[in-house]
Amino acid sequence: MLTLMKHTALIRRTHMDDKNNETRKANMQYERMKNRLNRPAIGWVYRDPDTKKLCMAGNFATLCEMVARHRKANKLDIPADIVQRIEHEICRTLPDNLVVGRTQSADQDNIALLPVEKQTDELIRKWIHGGRRVVGNDEVVARCEICQKCPSNKRVGCLSCKGIDHWIYSFIGHSRRTHYDGVIHACKHGGFFLMAGIHMTLETLPEPHGVPEHCWRKPHEPTDERKTED
Ligand code: SF4
Repeated sequence: MLTLMKHTALIRRTHMDDKNNETRKANMQYERMKNRLNRPAIGWVYRDPDTKKLCMAGNFATLCEMVARHRKANKLDIPADIVQRIEHEICRTLPDNLVVGRTQSADQDNIALLPVEKQTDELIRKWIHGGRRVVGNDEVVARCEICQKCPSNKRVGCLSCKGIDHWIYSFIGHSRRTHYDGVIHACKHGGFFLMAGIHMTLETLPEPHGVPEHCWRKPHEPTDERKTED
């Protein structure tokens, strides 16, 4: 009986995950710079996802042309939205005030550091005790995409300056670092560092009380059609 209940719960959970993934895909949008003429602090750079070559140019338009030429020379397809893809990746490196649509979120206000450190410490202990289960890379990226635009993603100062990123990755694993570390901070609902939480399974994380509708932590009910399969 217990096994059957567990199996049913597992199916229901899988359906909910599917539903969450669909929601996340619908939420994915390319980010845009407020001004394509403003040179990013690290310059106009883009790493091709297939060849891993780092392309560098003097301005955005030249960078896009260079990437397209590089892909053509390597007999790779040139996606119709290549310019948006490059711009989206560059936005990863920019502060919120230089990206369209991000002004409402992390730049607006801060939350206290100490409670977030404490909560994250407890979360990491729970995660270790629970067997250190992590989600896949695609899931991590999808979560980061949502969090970086969320108004509940709150700044708590420079995590790198305080060594907090090193502390978190010493547990999570340095190989799990993402390109989003500069734009994900602390979640107001749960009070933990997103840099840690985005890698953990939903069961490990605090209850999603008060999270907004778009949050990846919010459980979504299975559709009626899927309910009948149970
Ligand atoms: S509420 Fe959800 S989407 Fe928003 S910052 Fe927290 S975990 Fe991310």
